[in-house]
Amino acid sequence: MPDHRIFPSMMRQKSRSLSRRDVLALTTSAALVAASPLRAQSAPLSVVASTGMIADVARVVGGGAVQVQALMGPGIDPHSYRQTRSDIVALTRADLVLWNGLYLEAQMQDFLRKLAERTPVFAVGEAVPHDRLIAHQDYDGKFDPHVWMVPDLWAHVVRAVQDALTAAASDRADLFIANADTYLAQLDRLGTYAAGVLGTVPQPSRVLLTAHDAFGYFGRAYGFEVLGIQGISTESEAGLGRIRALVDLLVQRDIKAVFVETSVSDRNIRALVEGAAARGHNVQIGGELFSDAMGPLGTYEGTYLGMIDHNATTIAAALGGQVPPRGMDGKLRAGL
Ligand code: ZN
Repeated sequence: MPDHRIFPSMMRQKSRSLSRRDVLALTTSAALVAASPLRAQSAPLSVVASTGMIADVARVVGGGAVQVQALMGPGIDPHSYRQTRSDIVALTRADLVLWNGLYLEAQMQDFLRKLAERTPVFAVGEAVPHDRLIAHQDYDGKFDPHVWMVPDLWAHVVRAVQDALTAAASDRADLFIANADTYLAQLDRLGTYAAGVLGTVPQPSRVLLTAHDAFGYFGRAYGFEVLGIQGISTESEAGLGRIRALVDLLVQRDIKAVFVETSVSDRNIRALVEGAAARGHNVQIGGELFSDAMGPLGTYEGTYLGMIDHNATTIAAALGGQVPPRGMDGKLRAGL
């Protein structure tokens, strides 16, 4: 039997209904408990995370008690990423593996599910309560995986990482709680900043057109209509018909800016801008957004806080809102 005290929030979910996801999570928590005595108390916990966003949470919450590696760096598309040979070595040696789940890492999930039989593996994106997830438009029982786009949702993931770290290194539980509490206060402030600047965008301009449907949660939280050329995954190609329909919409609605994403080719977005220009409608590229990967390592934009600050500030500025010159704390790269 899994130790139910480890994941009280999960047990609350279980009392509502026992979904396949819950069973998976409980199985994982059992593996975590089983694995924890193997670690020497002083050694840092070796954590491997799929995306940079999850790795960032693990670094912040784990502090000096963890050593964290992200498999996917800046500009990497998680929908199509497949584990490399060196990833497999890192994953099999890790004390703890964290991934988003919700079918984000579509090409890795079979490998990770298999790995979960012998290593603690935890899908932290699945800690977001079901009633706050957006259902996938094409597949029953699937959800939009882009839960990092809104700090308020990402807070559930911070707690899930805290729980996973605590299960793997229970002697450091107090440290993990304290770090998570501090970080959640920063996320709260970030969410308030994002809502503030995005709230200054004039109502008719609140249309966010990007390369793929990564901004569904963002749109819902901040009152933007969101249009992606590709769907929730980048795996499906956008047809010419889709491009033509979006050009019509840009012209009809007089939309002035569209956005490229760092982890998706800008080919389709450029086709849109050219298509609109051919119809005499001038559309700008409003900037580059961090959709499914963070900015360069070692920069502010290469942290979760910087990523969301950049996105909110860039979108608000390009669509006619009022923003401070370099974002929430004056830390964003100049030249926005
Ligand atoms: Zn995506």
